[in-house]
Amino acid sequence: MSAQLATAIEHAPARQAFLMKPRELVLRDFAPSHPGPGAVLIQVKCALSCGTDLKAFRRGHPMWPMPTPFGHEFSGVVVEVGEGVDNFKVGDALMAAPTAPCGICFYCQRGQENLCAQAMDKMLLGAYADFLLIPPHIVKQNAFRKPDDLSFEEAALLEPLSCVVHAQEVAQPQPFESVLIIGAGPFGLLHLLALRDRGVREIAIAGRGDDRLKWAAALGPDRLIDVRSGDPEREVQSLNNGFGPDLVIECTGQLDGWHESLSRVRRGGRVVFFGGCAPGTVLNVDTRRMHYDNLTLLAPFHFRPRDVKRAFQILGAREIGAGAVINARRSLGELAEVFSPLESGSILKCAIIP
Ligand SMILES: [Zn+2]
Ligand SMILES: [Zn+2]
Repeated sequence: MSAQLATAIEHAPARQAFLMKPRELVLRDFAPSHPGPGAVLIQVKCALSCGTDLKAFRRGHPMWPMPTPFGHEFSGVVVEVGEGVDNFKVGDALMAAPTAPCGICFYCQRGQENLCAQAMDKMLLGAYADFLLIPPHIVKQNAFRKPDDLSFEEAALLEPLSCVVHAQEVAQPQPFESVLIIGAGPFGLLHLLALRDRGVREIAIAGRGDDRLKWAAALGPDRLIDVRSGDPEREVQSLNNGFGPDLVIECTGQLDGWHESLSRVRRGGRVVFFGGCAPGTVLNVDTRRMHYDNLTLLAPFHFRPRDVKRAFQILGAREIGAGAVINARRSLGELAEVFSPLESGSILKCAIIP
């Protein structure tokens, strides 16, 4: 790195957001540290709000003891590289997932890297900031050079899209199938876009809230179902020429949504429980329905490096229009104001531009 650039970093007014306790957010001044071997330092260009951030903001997060640096969906420009880094140089635009597995544990050896303890234990937090240090395990496995024609905002969707790709890899939606998505938030909409990319014949999305339904409608699903009005049950039943959906993807993370998914899927169909519920939530399943109607219940969590690679390819191809799920922009100084519109559902995802 040039001496000039190093000086610029050291003198930059660097800020990083910390969640001190639920609903208490502060911006702290900090001096970005120089990257050690295998690490890189980026200047953050965009960080995205995420449903997990909202949950942590409201009620805390079991994996993030407070005070905690905050924000995990990001993209930026490399300003300094540590010793031994050969896949990035100063000035490269970078996009990355905030986790990476160890590659050698029991789960990693079985191709279930999404369950690797390292992925969660060493998750990178602190993206709502001017600078972010990307640790070696992520630089090595889950960081990519951003294509020039991909915006920093869309590039920051790598993590949520990786979760979506993983879930769809597990569920294997087929082009001839009918799929119902329950929940029209950012994840529901990303599923819709990814299903279309796979050529799925009939995609229905069920949701509530005028704004959310309006944004979902703009993406042109084959069927938009307002769960508050009309006869949503009959509408769902009429899918797939009256057989009901082959696959239901639950994206609300609410017990009602989980029950709904079980009762709406067709005989012989599959349910993907994508949205995690609050700790302690217990699901009752009618075993008769499950067994004699031959249901397949799937609950994919997080993602594997191959899903991140696929998500990177999808974003790079610029075909699915993933940027549509970002519909607000704020500066880092305005971060605290983002959570109430997120809570009320009047924002899908907000881009925080330092
Ligand atoms: Zn996220
Ligand atoms: Zn592992």
